[in-house]
Amino acid sequence: MKIFNAISAVFLVITMLAACQSQKPGEKSSEEAKPASSSSTADNPLFAAWTSPFETPPFDRIKNEHFKPAITEGIKRHNEEIKAIAENTDPATFSNTLEALDRSGLFLDRTRRLLENLLSANTNDELQAIATDLAPILSQHDDEIYLNPQLFARIKAVYDQRDSSSLTLNPEQRQLLERFYKDFVRAGANLNDAQKARLKEINQELAVLELKFADNVLKETNAYQLVIDNQSDLEGLPANIIAAAAEAATERGLTSGKWVFTLHKPSLIPFLQYSPRRDLREKIFKAYINRGNNGNAYDNKANIARTIALRLEKANLLGYKTWADYVLDDCMAKTPGNVYKFLDEIWTPALKRSHEEASALQQLIAAEGHDFKLEAWDWWYYAEKLRKQKYALDEEMLRPYFQLENVINGAFLLANKLYGLQFVERHDIPVYHPDVKVFEVKEVDGSHIGILYTDYFPRASKGAGAWMNAIRDEYKIDGKKVTPLIINCGNFTKPTPDQPSLLTLEEVTSLFHEFGHALHGLLADCTYLRLTGTNVARDFVELPSQIMENWVTEPEFLKLFARHYQTGQPMPAELIAKIRNARYFNQGFATVEYMSASYLDMDWHIVTQPVKAEEVMNFEAKALARIGLIPEIVVRYRSPYFSHIFAGEYSAGYYSYMWAEVLDADAFEAFKEKGLFDAATARDFRYYILSRGGSADPMELYVKFRGREPKVEAVLKRRGL
Ligand SMILES: [Zn+2]
Repeated sequence: MKIFNAISAVFLVITMLAACQSQKPGEKSSEEAKPASSSSTADNPLFAAWTSPFETPPFDRIKNEHFKPAITEGIKRHNEEIKAIAENTDPATFSNTLEALDRSGLFLDRTRRLLENLLSANTNDELQAIATDLAPILSQHDDEIYLNPQLFARIKAVYDQRDSSSLTLNPEQRQLLERFYKDFVRAGANLNDAQKARLKEINQELAVLELKFADNVLKETNAYQLVIDNQSDLEGLPANIIAAAAEAATERGLTSGKWVFTLHKPSLIPFLQYSPRRDLREKIFKAYINRGNNGNAYDNKANIARTIALRLEKANLLGYKTWADYVLDDCMAKTPGNVYKFLDEIWTPALKRSHEEASALQQLIAAEGHDFKLEAWDWWYYAEKLRKQKYALDEEMLRPYFQLENVINGAFLLANKLYGLQFVERHDIPVYHPDVKVFEVKEVDGSHIGILYTDYFPRASKGAGAWMNAIRDEYKIDGKKVTPLIINCGNFTKPTPDQPSLLTLEEVTSLFHEFGHALHGLLADCTYLRLTGTNVARDFVELPSQIMENWVTEPEFLKLFARHYQTGQPMPAELIAKIRNARYFNQGFATVEYMSASYLDMDWHIVTQPVKAEEVMNFEAKALARIGLIPEIVVRYRSPYFSHIFAGEYSAGYYSYMWAEVLDADAFEAFKEKGLFDAATARDFRYYILSRGGSADPMELYVKFRGREPKVEAVLKRRGL
């Protein structure tokens, strides 16, 4: 059964990607084994039972044209299942209503997840067009379930008995009952017929708008390239970055003697950090920050205006003053007021720090004999210089110790030390692209846990950023576990003909972050699909991911996995010390850049009146001026490419990363106190946080793990603010 507001795709803070909705996996069920009715379905692997190891998807045989018939059939089967639940003449019970609902729609969801995964990770125009056609149909299908009065009446009948002694439910079952009841109410089950009809129209339009938004960002990102054909313009750039740029030129069919820089982070950021060519930095930076705002066919401003208007209307229909009120009612934060109060506590010291950092960079410019004013496209370049001066640390010094394969092994080692997990590469499981690798994940005793796919390099068919997705969630049927299939995607530095993939510290951190989400999916131990894995409150979901970032810079752990790719020597203690010393460096910038986007997100979603398309950039400017963002820092995502909130599930929720940072900073202290790999602490973290999904209240779970509630100070301390 597909779900509202649940999270199946989770993103790193620096990422953006198309919306992914939570769905239910396929299982070996009689319906999948039904004989195909025509020759076209007979050839369609989406109709068949999957016979690959662990019932993994036959990616090698799935084609674009398979999706439409499979989804059409999936909707039909799901409707039949829902009809049977809603029209059951027996009295409504937990089993014949809630449990049955949780188990419905498996065939549809299996396909839908695959489609959404490919849209994010390996898309093409044909697939995009299919998804755009299907979006309103799927949206309508969801609404027909959530707005089905007979079905809701049965859910409510069970819900109304929740405190009676005749209903004996275990805590997870009780949670499922309350969760579904709330899902239905939030989806409009209590509205009258006219309101329901309007809500359906709104949802369909929003579904299409979100896809369009993501597609525009992808097109705009791919459309730009900075071509350099004069070797002297490469001055200052590290050799590996030049080699990657030459490779990018070759891939684009350019003649030799040309280099290409793109708006993908592994290309863009080193250029901004190392190129002394201020004019070129300005050019590529402006291209980056103007994506979706170029007045062309891929301009997103009208999409934003329309999305905001529809979300407001939907919130009002459902009885909320604003979209943010509606969204936050289902999060730990509860109200917009709480979010702003929380943001303000960190913003004030962070903004002060950013002023200090800007003036230090301005002094460096003066010391070089220049008299220009620091601009946003100068920040990376001078920050990198200052880092070198103050801490004798050059980001490029770290790369040789962060060969991708070593970093992956480091992540696996950490999971092994904490939870005893083992990762075994498999070559017999189909993949959708040659870059994808597959690992079987096992318990310490060798028993099977699930499958982890990794897909780490940028390409034109892939969205930017890094994310985790569940191709199949863990759940139990008759007490027997259906094992999860989890994917981690990233856009990390690619290998070149002479060098393996060597990552930056930020990329390493990103890999560990997504790996943390993967563990949340892999170690899930729930019965119900609606509650399992990452199906938790959005401002809780980043705890399992962000906590993993903490280990990355711990000397005790670094020396275990960070080895020089040529010599095999561990990272020297002096270099580790330099990383530690520099950890508060540029934190004003990082915090302000992120938090300004959090405020912008909130401001967009507390409007009580629509905003015109031609007013979109003005609205953004006002929101950023109100908080006093300095002009030398550009908000991490400007509205026309803020996919988290306009194409993803983070609307009125971008603050979640910082919210969860309070939890993860505080939770990691527990490991610091007892030992970095302390078995008892790890066991508790696995049990109370990683295995429980949304089967209990998140704060209750946290308090059980930690023995108390967390405090904001943990973040200020961590960031040195
Ligand atoms: Zn994340």
